[in-house]
Parts: sequence; C-alpha cells; structure tokens
Amino acid sequence: MTGRLLQKRRLVRALIYLGTCLALVATLGGMLVEVRAGPVVPLAQTESIAIVDVHNHLNGDMSAEELIGLMDKNGVSRMVLMPRYFSGRRAGGSGSDEQALAYAKEYPGRFIPFVAGQRDILDERERWLNPDEEAQNFLREVETKLRTQSFYGIGELIIRHYPFEDRAGGGRERDIPVNTPLMQRLADLAARHHVPLLIHAEGEPDVVVGMRQLLENNPAARIIWAHNCGRSSADIIRGMLARYPNLFCDLGGMLNGRFSPYGGYWPKKTPWMFLIEDGRGQLLPEMKELYEAFPKRFFLGTDHAFTRSLRNFSRRIHRFRQLLSGLTPETARRLASGNADEMFRVRAGPAPTGGVTNGPLPGEAAAVDPDALPPPVRDLLRRLIASGYKAQTNVDGRSRKEPHKGVDIRGAVGDDVLAAADGRVTFAGDTPRGLAIFIAHDKNLDGFHYFTTYYHNTDHIVKKGDMVTRGQVIAHLGDSGSKFVPHVHFGVNKSLNRRWRREQDTDVNPDLYWNTDKICFDSKHDYPAMPLRFTLPVRCPQ
Ligand SMILES: [Zn+2]
Ligand SMILES: [Zn+2]
Repeated sequence: MTGRLLQKRRLVRALIYLGTCLALVATLGGMLVEVRAGPVVPLAQTESIAIVDVHNHLNGDMSAEELIGLMDKNGVSRMVLMPRYFSGRRAGGSGSDEQALAYAKEYPGRFIPFVAGQRDILDERERWLNPDEEAQNFLREVETKLRTQSFYGIGELIIRHYPFEDRAGGGRERDIPVNTPLMQRLADLAARHHVPLLIHAEGEPDVVVGMRQLLENNPAARIIWAHNCGRSSADIIRGMLARYPNLFCDLGGMLNGRFSPYGGYWPKKTPWMFLIEDGRGQLLPEMKELYEAFPKRFFLGTDHAFTRSLRNFSRRIHRFRQLLSGLTPETARRLASGNADEMFRVRAGPAPTGGVTNGPLPGEAAAVDPDALPPPVRDLLRRLIASGYKAQTNVDGRSRKEPHKGVDIRGAVGDDVLAAADGRVTFAGDTPRGLAIFIAHDKNLDGFHYFTTYYHNTDHIVKKGDMVTRGQVIAHLGDSGSKFVPHVHFGVNKSLNRRWRREQDTDVNPDLYWNTDKICFDSKHDYPAMPLRFTLPVRCPQ
C-alpha cells in the first residue's frame, strides 16, 4: 500500500517536472520563433554581418593595401573591382584589368575582378551599333580574359548616364541604346562563361524597353542592372524581376546623403528616378517590400568611382548597415553577402587563405550552387522534375512520410532511362521500391565515390557488373514499386568508401552535380570526365 502511494507520488512529481520542462521549452521556442519572425535586425546585429561590396571601381592610384584596410575596418569580406580605363585629369590614373587581377592574387579571396567596361573606346555610340575593328579587338580581349577563369564579370558598361558635376569630378553624359549588336556579343560571352554583365543605364522608358529585349533575348546571361535597376520605381523593378529570372540589381550609389553624391545630388530629376531611402538611413516602404519580396536579387555596392571619395567608404558601409537593420534577418543577410557569395564562387585554383572563406568547402569541390544554375538549365529542371530533393510532397502532390532523397523526373512508360555518367552497374534488380539500377562512378576530384540510382523501371537492359557510358540506355521508365504516375526517381549518393551501402544516409542534392554546360545528353558533345557531372537520365523534350 505505502509502496504504491510512493510510486504514485513519484509519478506525479515526474509529471510536474516534465510539465515544467515542456513549459520552458515552449517559452524558449516562442522566443526563438519571435526572434526569427521579428520584423527587423537590430542595428547592433548588422555590425556582425559580413558585407560583399558588389559595385566598386579601380583607378590606377587606388592601392590594394588601402582598400583592404577599409574593408577590414568595416567588416567587408570581399569587393568587386571594376577597373576604369580613363586617363583624364581627375580619373586617378587609368586602372586596368591586370591591376585588378594582381590585387586579387595578392589578397586571395578578397577581390573579385571584372573585365572593365569603362573604356574610352566604348564611349562611341556608333561602335555599339556597328561593331568595328576596335570593337572586335575588345571582344577578343574580353573572351581571352574570361577564358582564364580569373575574372568574375564584365562591367561597368556605361550605356545611359547623365552628366553631373561634384567636387570629386563628376561624370560624362552617355546615351547609347541598350540592345545593340555589341551588347548582344557581350551577352553571348557572359552566358558562355557564366559571368554577369553589370550595366549602368538610367531607367528611362526606352531604356526599360531595351533592357526587356536584352533579358528576353539572352535568358542564359545574368544581368546586374546597376543602381537599383536604373533607379527605377519599385513597381517597374518588381515586374521585371518577376518576369526575368536572369535580372539582378545592385544598390551601388543609391545612398542618399552628402557622402554619396550621385544618390544624394540628383543630376537630373526625371519622372523615372526613384530613391531607396529617406536620407536618414530608413528604407522607403515600397523598396523595403520589394527587397523582402525578391531577397535573392539584390546586392550592396559602395560605388567609389573617384579615388578621393574613398574617404567616404566607412560612412557608406555604415549607412548600408542602417538600411539592412530595416529588413528581416534572412533578407539582410542575403543582400549583405549571401547573394554575392552565391554568384561569385571561387573558381578552381589555389584555395583562398586568410580570414574569409568564400567558396565551396573542400569536401564539396565539385558542387555547383543550385540557385546559380544558368536560367535555361534551371527552367528545364523545373519543367522536368515533378518532385525535388528534400521535397515534402510526392509527384502527385500528396505529402511524404520523410523528405525526398532524390528527384522525380517526369516521363512515360517505356521511355528510355539513360546512364547519367560513365560507370559500372553495381545492382540491377527488384527492391521494395520497384525495379532499380545502381551505378558506381569514378572517384571524384573531391575524394568521394559517387553513386547514382534509378528507380521504378519497367525492365532492365543492363545487368550487374556491366560497364556503361553516359547516355547509354540502361532501362525503360515505369511505375514499378510506386503507386504514383510513371517517373524515374534519380538519386545521387556519395561515400568515402568504394562500396556504398544503401542503408547509409549519404544522399546528396542532385542539383549540385548537373552538367550545366549540357544537361541533356548529346552524343556529339564531349563531356569532361572530371569533375563528375551528370546529364539527365531521360531524353530532353524536343
Ligand atoms: Zn554606375
Ligand atoms: Zn559605378
């Protein structure tokens, strides 16, 4: 009797204890949720966010040490250098692509060199309309430089620029149509080498029309339209971002204060020019809404065209931090550095040393960023993939018991299932999830062994032990082991061991390993074996 009572009391005490714990967890959870969903980042917290300066320039007399000093003082991890090949009295000595490259080598991971667009030869309107010998030479130079993979963009291309004067020297007028033959050639180069074009063009109505044509004609070229997309209205920018996935805007020169002349001193007030802030560090409500709606499409930039104006660097960065403090934490982080770090990945080569890490981790040497896939690839994947990696819903929209471990690719019963890369068949048979084939691929550059899996087949053409080549038909698509519509479940797994065991949880996002150069298998194309990249395991729709 007493024993039972004691047991009962213990149980009651345990329950009270459990209840208190739960209450505590709930309170803490509530606080966490509150912080996460909170409307803004306190200014003090924005101090700890690294900033990437995506719009800055290089004159001959800007020293790498001075720039690094300013960056370190202000928490700026990386900086785009757009050289200015101008030699006028106030230009600060002509900068050059080679100078930018030398700075990037001297301070690995800190500078992001662009092939310069600010050159006297590009001042000629006629040259954009009818590219002459000079233009051909320039295009050849751009191509040669991009091939070295040491340059990360082309710009700043000055297309529509108002004349203005200030104490630092002002700027010349430029009035060139946006969508010209020369621009078309540059967009081709940008697409082919996966680098963005950074364009300065004030958002006058004909400029907007030209931009639309340029974006439409070149879906594979990413365009950064400088200065909050030509200082356009939030409505115009919203419409264009929604329509063109290859468009981005930098906020260079958009600060409104004496320390940022072009933004504060408006050279020409036109009905098409819009500010982003109130002059005291508060984002205008419509711009704040715009950045929250498209957090992946904006970058920050200090835009120091003149060497003397570098003395305003700290004030400009501080003002950007004030503006960031008006945004939600995730949007603030994206604008500050997240978007730039995604767009400007460190290429193959010596790993950066020093305080910043800015590329994939060593174990992910072969990964590409799914968000940075060229738009045509992204669009095709969107069309073909019925249920993505880690998706919570099935091909038919019903919810899954656990997040998806691969991607489901649409198809019809009997369609060819293709090997995604060369390899050896390690399994071809029946599983609880239908007929499946596993292929082991060569050890990748990152030291991991990779395996691909193909589920729900109707029948198999290859057997265990067969060597297969990319694009070879290995099976026919079906719905075996699946209560859903016909599709192929394509999975990618990696392991440090030569043998991958199915039960181990080693699946990785297939989107990280697509062959972005040619995602659809093409027998005439020469696919490099390394780093390992996969083509689609189905034929692309014609
Ligand atoms: Zn500009
Ligand atoms: Zn600029």
